[in-house]
Amino acid sequence: MNVFRGIAEFKEWRAKVPQGVSVGFVPTMGALHNGHAALLARSSQESDITILSIFVNPTQFGATEDLSRYPRTIEDDLALARRLRVDAVLLPEVSDVYPDGYSTSVSENVVSEPLCGIFRPGHFEGVATIVLKLFLWVKPNTAYFGLKDAQQFFVVQKVVRDLDLDIKICGVETIREVSGLALSSRNRYLSKNAQELIAPKIFLHLNQLKDAALERQLNEALLADAKNALTKLGFLVQYLEARTLPALGVPSPDDLLSTDLVIAFAGILEGTRLIDNVLVLHRFRKIS
Ligand code: AMP
Repeated sequence: MNVFRGIAEFKEWRAKVPQGVSVGFVPTMGALHNGHAALLARSSQESDITILSIFVNPTQFGATEDLSRYPRTIEDDLALARRLRVDAVLLPEVSDVYPDGYSTSVSENVVSEPLCGIFRPGHFEGVATIVLKLFLWVKPNTAYFGLKDAQQFFVVQKVVRDLDLDIKICGVETIREVSGLALSSRNRYLSKNAQELIAPKIFLHLNQLKDAALERQLNEALLADAKNALTKLGFLVQYLEARTLPALGVPSPDDLLSTDLVIAFAGILEGTRLIDNVLVLHRFRKIS
């Protein structure tokens, strides 16, 4: 496995990958778990070579967020990547990505607006910018993103469409604990009780709402009830909302009954911000 700590060596290596070899790319912030592994496995199945990047991107964290305490487990991450037969790992330095005087950014202005866009101003601009920069270095045929971060997936898909990049964006199902809790690098900050008993209730409520949507019974009152139930369990709920796909618009009462939706949650538990969502896809639709 090739590990590149500097961008110059990576570019040299990438230039030697023959034309016709398909490249799958999985961008991450490290602290890898089975969710990331699912993305890497999918890439290995579908592409000739798989490139993983690990970069904790400062511009997608707000001033009061957890950039400095974000888990960094690089040796374990490299061991996992080796086991999964990743071909190359790119570990850019902050100075590679944002050299002195850097002053360019990419902002998508519709899909980025609601949900996390409200609670994390600037977050998706940071994401879109780093993802585009990584795409320009890696030149993938296909890039793999987790549907756990559904809004991120739809923002990236929109940027790729708007800029007419020749890259397929593939969304991979959320990997969960048996309890239903979505795997996240941040789960480690939760107490055992919160991990095992409280946080799994997010998925329970999301699934009840999804069932209601599929039975064409979803309405604002059910969404509000679920939000209250999670608040009573100790979450500081930021949002629990249904949004239309793929632009994440506000659904009309009719949309709640018949349109493809994401039902998305964000909330803080024991000081840790957790997000999760379920997709409601009518008519045998697949997301990617
Ligand atoms: P992160 O390292 O948190 O930036 O995540 C890197 C990629 O892994 C993103 O595309 C995430 O959506 C994806 N990911 C994170 N957690 C999960 C999960 N539980 N299941 C599937 N994909 C995930």
